[in-house]
Amino acid sequence: MRATRAIIHLDYFKANVLTIKKHIKPQCTICIPVKADAYGHGAISCSIAAIQAGAKFLAVASVQEGSELRSAGIVAPILLLSLPLPEEIPEIIEQELTPLIADEEFVSLLSVETAKRALVYPVHLKVDTGMGRIGCSPEEALPLAKKIQDTRSLRLAGLASHLSVADSTAPEDVQWTKAQISRFSAVCKELEANGISPGIRHIANSGALVLHPEAEFDMVRPGLLAYGYAPIPSMSEIIPVQPVMELESFVVSIKKIAKGQAISYGRTWIAPCDTHIATIPLGYADGLPRSLSGKVSFSIEGRSYPQVGRICMDQCMLDLGPHSDVQRWDRVLIFGPPSAAAGKVGAADSAGGKVGAATGKAGGNAGAANSAAIYNSADSLARSIGGIAYEICCGIHRRVPRVYIS
Ligand SMILES: *Cc1c(COP(=O)(O)O)cnc(C)c1O
Repeated sequence: MRATRAIIHLDYFKANVLTIKKHIKPQCTICIPVKADAYGHGAISCSIAAIQAGAKFLAVASVQEGSELRSAGIVAPILLLSLPLPEEIPEIIEQELTPLIADEEFVSLLSVETAKRALVYPVHLKVDTGMGRIGCSPEEALPLAKKIQDTRSLRLAGLASHLSVADSTAPEDVQWTKAQISRFSAVCKELEANGISPGIRHIANSGALVLHPEAEFDMVRPGLLAYGYAPIPSMSEIIPVQPVMELESFVVSIKKIAKGQAISYGRTWIAPCDTHIATIPLGYADGLPRSLSGKVSFSIEGRSYPQVGRICMDQCMLDLGPHSDVQRWDRVLIFGPPSAAAGKVGAADSAGGKVGAATGKAGGNAGAANSAAIYNSADSLARSIGGIAYEICCGIHRRVPRVYIS
């Protein structure tokens, strides 16, 4: 197998789903978003694991993602979170995906197809309570719900909305989220007052689970938490989860270089002293952002070594320093859960909260191997370039083999 690989700890993933389940009301259902290949973790394996851990719904962004799950034999309800093109409607129905409805035009287009097939097809009404992305306005919700109710081939099975700042503790953001939740609640009540059952009500993402328990309603849609990252790192103890993905590679070359020698494209890094350079077969095409060049360290045998020079498409280099006992073929931990840093792959470690604490003081210090057991999380890597953990995980390319640990 290729040196660069993503180890997917399905055992941690299931434990995370169970931790979420314990945190919410017993009657509340869990929907696990498995869009973007389960945030890069592998949609089919994660879907199966999510269901095994007690999730009742899955959610995808595209019809194709939903079809791939159906082809793999997954029968659980699958929510389609993004809006499709009209030409995708037949496939939605054939694959039994549950679409979000945000306007009358879509009701008409969908009902032509559902009526043809003599179905009573479940849909969820999507209300925009402040995200500004998709969904009808709160005022349009009642007429749209009535239209769905009056359409014999459709059935209103749920009411959904999405929160825009649920993962922020800034007072104005907390206020905004509370306002979104109360707008959503008001729509639910308005439908009920008009004799329309809203079905499954759901608005909560990972951030809301941590900060806004009143957002639970009938179902929650935690993605980030399930994959092991706290939406608010400083509050990771509230729902303690473990990162599921561990990215590793191996040293494929070590060479001695002299002071003054340049490394990689652009000759941006010049060795400040005689040193050893390790090459690892991991680059930006694998999903290691090029903007991390010179800003990150990776750990080998519990010691941290700065990445130097520009990250290439398929490879990058580490400065091992003048005196290093790193050997060719040694394993390099790019990021992962605490257990990976401890070298105990697969060993459960409930340290949850400590992820993301440490990342490299990379930069130009040749030989700056840090003896502390430093490791990266997808979150710490992302933060060093102003990004978010989601991007790092989703960005791990399909050419990186996934190795599943169950
Ligand atoms: C992706 C997504 C989620 C999950 O968000 P997390 O922040 O990963 O918990 C929930 N709802 C919708 C509509 C989404 O698109």
